[in-house]
Amino acid sequence: MGGVRGICLGLATAFVAAASSSVAAQPTDNASSSSVARCQRADFRVVLDVGHTRRSPGAKSARGVDEFDFNLRLANMVDQALRDAGFAKTVLLVTDGPAVRSMYTRVAHANELGADLLLSIHHDSVPDRFLEKWEFDGKNETYCDRFKGHSLFVSDDNPYPKDSLAFASLLGRQLKARGLQYTPHYAESFMGHYQHKLLDADAGVYRYDTLFVLKKTHMPAVLLEAGSIANREEELQLETADRRQLTAASVVAAVDAFCAARPTKPSAPEVARHRSRTRHVASMHPRRHARDRTASAVQPKPDMH
Ligand SMILES: [Zn+2]
Repeated sequence: MGGVRGICLGLATAFVAAASSSVAAQPTDNASSSSVARCQRADFRVVLDVGHTRRSPGAKSARGVDEFDFNLRLANMVDQALRDAGFAKTVLLVTDGPAVRSMYTRVAHANELGADLLLSIHHDSVPDRFLEKWEFDGKNETYCDRFKGHSLFVSDDNPYPKDSLAFASLLGRQLKARGLQYTPHYAESFMGHYQHKLLDADAGVYRYDTLFVLKKTHMPAVLLEAGSIANREEELQLETADRRQLTAASVVAAVDAFCAARPTKPSAPEVARHRSRTRHVASMHPRRHARDRTASAVQPKPDMH
């Protein structure tokens, strides 16, 4: 792992260098910086995976709104921003049905699309023990104001771990450049079962090998938790078009830099090292488990994303 991480960070540095030169570039004005690698935006396919489904909607916000609603709104804005920037092959992947089945469906669709990159869009919550009760709009809800901020996750079991980390680092730095801060709490021991190794402390990228959508897709893949909807203040921010716009602009800049630094589709996975050992499975959204337990009980229990 240590060796892989060292390689990854070196590659990420190269990607960031490209990002700083090409962030503002548009499809028609690339000629202004001839020394910088070019992204053929029209040929580069991004799959935007909308986390969860209407039927299995993920976490609940402090005000009782489904995570799926937040994911869909943000993904729609990112989709539009990418298309406006010339990434015409972008695909918005909205999946239906129960949680477990939808995971297999979304991964199968993503792999069929022959995409260059997958970004799975989510919003975060907290383990149950951090939740407090309050009343909002006459209903009993739960919240946690202790943590706020976005976070990024990559899997070392993805066929392209270096590229996945490189894109995550690019995106994290673009978010940071727009004044958004990642949450550091996933690296803390008090997270216990939900603790993750921080791979890029500047960009807020964590390692989460068992995330199904990351390890089963056949292209570089990153999961974005765009912010905590359990945090009462951040939930209000995440509901605004301004906040979504900041995230969407960050994604466009990061995708463009990634595309420019990786202009051709890889012919083979970087490392063929999918492991056969049984893994313990965790989830980012523990509150969802109660609802999904019935479906999970009769099937292998992969990660719920
Ligand atoms: Zn989620």
